[in-house]
Amino acid sequence: MLDNLEKFCNLLREAAEINIDPLQRGGILTPEARAALQEWGDGYSVCDFCAGRLDRIKTPPVEEFVHEVLPEFLGTDEVRVTHGAREGKFAAMHALCEKGDWVVMDGNAHYTTVLAAERAGLRIEYVPSSKEPDYAISAEGFTEAIERAYEQKGNVSLAVLTYPDGNYGNLPDARAIADACHDYNVPLLLNGAYSIGRMPVNGRELGADIIVGSGHKSMAASGPVGVLGASEEYAKPIFRISSTKKNKEVELLGCTVRGAPLLTLMASFPAVVERVRRWQEEVDKARWFSAEMEKLGMIQQGERPHNHDLMFFLAENLYEISQRAKKGRYFLYRDLKERGICGIKPGLTRQFKLSTFGLGRVELEKVLQAFAEIIESYRPT
Ligand SMILES: *Cc1c(COP(=O)(O)O)cnc(C)c1O
Repeated sequence: MLDNLEKFCNLLREAAEINIDPLQRGGILTPEARAALQEWGDGYSVCDFCAGRLDRIKTPPVEEFVHEVLPEFLGTDEVRVTHGAREGKFAAMHALCEKGDWVVMDGNAHYTTVLAAERAGLRIEYVPSSKEPDYAISAEGFTEAIERAYEQKGNVSLAVLTYPDGNYGNLPDARAIADACHDYNVPLLLNGAYSIGRMPVNGRELGADIIVGSGHKSMAASGPVGVLGASEEYAKPIFRISSTKKNKEVELLGCTVRGAPLLTLMASFPAVVERVRRWQEEVDKARWFSAEMEKLGMIQQGERPHNHDLMFFLAENLYEISQRAKKGRYFLYRDLKERGICGIKPGLTRQFKLSTFGLGRVELEKVLQAFAEIIESYRPT
């Protein structure tokens, strides 16, 4: 096993010209971040001038980034860097909830919210969505779920809202949901993995007590890296200091991101702030793209008009083709790839999600053209 290791040495990445995978659109590095990745790639590279607290490093300017810039960007009192959105959710749950407590979460929640709760020993009460075609999540739903959890005995110590969710790209009324939770003194954690770094999100304005974001998902960082913010009240328990190890924050296991991923997050941050300002253009582009897809016979699910670049489509016409195409359901992946497009999972035809984020009109025209050509090429003669 330990000879013939050459194959690990020169790993090249094969990628199509246009990638419409929602997971990847917001994590593409800026040129500055790509340079930072090269410069800071060595292990523990950020620790040269550390006096024991990662978030207090002054060279490079981590302290200013974490303690001044990010709190303003997120609209929250305290921020720390994590390895991702999931680590932020787990840290908050582990700090704020007791084993056996209830956590209330929307039915569109990401699997990592469920795993974080499981790891923290919590019971889950879901807020069901309104089902097809909009899959909406309401404040009344949160109220009812909190009531249901209390009826089953035990404490409801946290609510989580996925904003937006990773399936339909829906943006529920976070403010109303926060108010509903606060009526029961339940803090709200806003999961902004798909929003922070793409669109304006202000924890304070939305009423979020805790907020998490994902650097590799939406902040043009290589990752794994994320952000965890909290209002003063909840920052205290979440970022509490060890009783034996001086200045080390327990939930973060002392230090989180100790090198290149953090530096890519910082290096691309000015461009991220800039792109957040242009969010309305992204929404307009997504709406236009959705309308064009529907002209080709596919139907967008979730909120209409849509408010996010992540979109879910039903495509009965492509499913019908898969029944008779060579290679069956893999035809769509193959035919898109031949046209320089990737990002829809191999084998999916009847329903799939995609993202238009950061793609120009010319590129999106190419994607639409590809769908049109593929559909046309299978038209029975
Ligand atoms: C991608 C995603 C996550 C996971 O983010 P990580 O930073 O990789 O942990 C969590 N929640 C939602 C809604 C996501 O889309």
